[in-house]
Amino acid sequence: MKFGGTSVGSPQRMNALIDLINDCEPKIVVLSAMSGTTNALAEISQALYQKDNEKAGSLIVDLEEKYKKVIAELYFTEQSLLKGRELISTHFDYLKSFTRDLFTINEERAVLAQGELISTALFQFLLDEKGIPSILLPALNFMRLNENAEPDMAFITKNLKLELTKYPGSELFITQGYISRNDFGEIDNLKRGGSDYTATIVGAAIGADEIQIWTDIDGMHNNDPRVVNKTYPIAKLTFDEAAELAYFGAKILHPTCILPAKDQNIPVRLLNTLQPEATGTLISSENQAEGFRAVAAKDGITAINIKSGRMLMAYGFLRAVFEVFERYRKPIDMITTSEVAVSVTIDNTDELANIVEELNEFGTVKVDTDLSIVSIVGLFPAAKPGYAGAIFDTLRNIPVRMISYGGSENNISILVDTKLKKQTLMELNKGLFNLE
Ligand code: ADP
Ligand code: ASP
Ligand code: MG
Repeated sequence: MKFGGTSVGSPQRMNALIDLINDCEPKIVVLSAMSGTTNALAEISQALYQKDNEKAGSLIVDLEEKYKKVIAELYFTEQSLLKGRELISTHFDYLKSFTRDLFTINEERAVLAQGELISTALFQFLLDEKGIPSILLPALNFMRLNENAEPDMAFITKNLKLELTKYPGSELFITQGYISRNDFGEIDNLKRGGSDYTATIVGAAIGADEIQIWTDIDGMHNNDPRVVNKTYPIAKLTFDEAAELAYFGAKILHPTCILPAKDQNIPVRLLNTLQPEATGTLISSENQAEGFRAVAAKDGITAINIKSGRMLMAYGFLRAVFEVFERYRKPIDMITTSEVAVSVTIDNTDELANIVEELNEFGTVKVDTDLSIVSIVGLFPAAKPGYAGAIFDTLRNIPVRMISYGGSENNISILVDTKLKKQTLMELNKGLFNLE
């Protein structure tokens, strides 16, 4: 069971969480940092990078004050209050030490890890105070990334099981989401929103019956509720549909968190801590009916177009182009080709200048930024007419930059200017789901 930032975001929420986990079923509970904390730690890191130690210091004190208030409200006994205060001062003294030290990416990762380390310890003190037996499993003892920054499932499975065998008879385990060690053994993380990924990795490692992701909404909705007004929760999704939605911007799930669950065929349930009786969404291998399920959008997309006479009737051209992206380890999201040109999109522009320089060898290169991929997800069998027609009829007033259709039966993606994302999602809500 994974609980996100809002679900552990206040003393009230932490208390409410106890009712959800305390049912004598053996489980591992994965917690995020309290809401706002990772953002605050990221802001502190920015100030430290800029050597603005005064600003960093004052942001650290502000955050510490918030935690002091949490402690005061969270506990009743003097002993818990004392433990809470000590924990906070240890973590915040550590944060303050960075205002006097060199600050590099390693220190930043250590700073970003503090939120989950604090929330799990505070929650476990609360369980202690209530007399509920639990074990705090340090994620840094078993979570590990390999040299490609992907979870090292063999290492994690072996070491998590080893940790668990230390506590025979225990049924309730608490651990940190998001944080991990990398292949050098240093503190690292699974990128923003990574606690979902921890949950599916842990669930897959122990062969759980079910993985539950508890958040602040009643499941995966048919459209982005941050952008359009009317949306509804989807009762069931296949792993493939959920994976596409997560990857293409549905913030409720970390982009790659469905894969470990799919690999082990473990159902994932999305549930709402603010409304625990709601059915939520069940993600599994069960086939779903044909049709449109949901749309999602991913921002920060860059399109690169390479036009070359050399492509005409040639083979090996696309391989040479793709090898450039492979060398710079940049995944491509969308591809379209014509006889003399190819367009691809990437979401990470760290190495854009080098990539473009290499691509210039092949022809004329054009780069477009500030784009969004809008993905329409569901089941669209290739032999059935009407799906492409319904989408393009709906989007007749939107200038579409790229279209990707036919790559899978679960996804039709289009590329639009980010300024038109809202309008695109609204038109699709109307045209595909009949919601105004
Ligand atoms: P947590 O802190 O629990 O991980 P997140 O903020 O990461 O929660 O994810 C939940 C949020 O995702 C929701 O509050 C909602 O605004 C947003 N969201 C974006 N797209 C969707 C969608 N298609 N369905 C449900 N929620 C979505
Ligand atoms: N606390 C981390 C974040 O805010 C991880 C998570 O909440 O999933 O990104
Ligand atoms: Mg999240």
